[in-house]
Amino acid sequence: MRAMLLEAPRQPLRLVDLPVPKPNPEQVLIRIHACAVCRTDLHIVDGELTHPKLPLILGHQIVGTVEAVGERVKNFNVGKRVGVPWLGHTCDRCRYCLSHRENLCDYAEFTGYHLDGGYAEYTVADYRYCFEIPAGYPDMQAAPLLCGGLIGYRAYRMTGDTEKIGFYGFGSSAHILIQLARYQGRQVFAFTRSGDTQGQEFARHLGANWAGDSDELPPEPLDAAIIFAPVGKLVPAALRAVAKGGVVVCAGIHMSDIPSFPYEILWEERVLRSVANLTRQDGEEFLTLAPQVPIRTEVNLFGLSEANEALDALRSGKIEGSAVLFT
Ligand SMILES: [Zn+2]
Ligand SMILES: [Zn+2]
Repeated sequence: MRAMLLEAPRQPLRLVDLPVPKPNPEQVLIRIHACAVCRTDLHIVDGELTHPKLPLILGHQIVGTVEAVGERVKNFNVGKRVGVPWLGHTCDRCRYCLSHRENLCDYAEFTGYHLDGGYAEYTVADYRYCFEIPAGYPDMQAAPLLCGGLIGYRAYRMTGDTEKIGFYGFGSSAHILIQLARYQGRQVFAFTRSGDTQGQEFARHLGANWAGDSDELPPEPLDAAIIFAPVGKLVPAALRAVAKGGVVVCAGIHMSDIPSFPYEILWEERVLRSVANLTRQDGEEFLTLAPQVPIRTEVNLFGLSEANEALDALRSGKIEGSAVLFT
């Protein structure tokens, strides 16, 4: 099979020919049709997330069809269309797994980080962590739902029942979650890189009530904000934008250092928190909601061998919506 391989951090991926992997008793073999590109992939390539499996096949937003099943796999027949997310395995025994917080499992293994992922023609995945893809979504449009959608949804859920919500960074996650927020009757305020008028136009086109630069204050105080961009200086900016009792959620897995800030912008019961990974319940909930809205993803397609170009485009902010590799 063809695969794009990361052999060491800070090196371009290399197109290689590898044997098709064999599923173990709990795994399914998947013929990959699409794999969306995530900012986390960039953090791994750039060495900001340390100790990946090496060499590694990146990619944790995989859509494909089952081609073979291990002997203990249940309810996953050959030909079924499945999605593989970031959460690839948990221990089922640690205190987090035993308290419905498997996203924090001490022994979690993540797809495209500890386990080979979707920048390839085939992959194997533990069937207990795969999702059914809702009918009506073509493969390419479904792929970004699996991280930009799922983990974005977990961050969105942490903001509670809010009326006015701000999104800092208007990429794959924000362009998906704005559709859910508007569907639920919320007002959305989109913050982009300074001067990104195209991104701001894209946000307004998807229903943002206001769009502006991330160093601007919104026209009125927000109830909550989600920071999708990996930029620490957005934390004090977002705290300044939320009203008393407001919540600021950091949704990314990596962020540059947060500059010091005066206590008064946290005072009055503002809450600052992060969100890590996903639980399978987040996935089931979100993939049930997505077709009800219905959420439509804006995808920029790249061939598998163009994975480096896709990563570069994401790094330089050239992707409107989500980048997706097809095989
Ligand atoms: Zn565990
Ligand atoms: Zn991701």
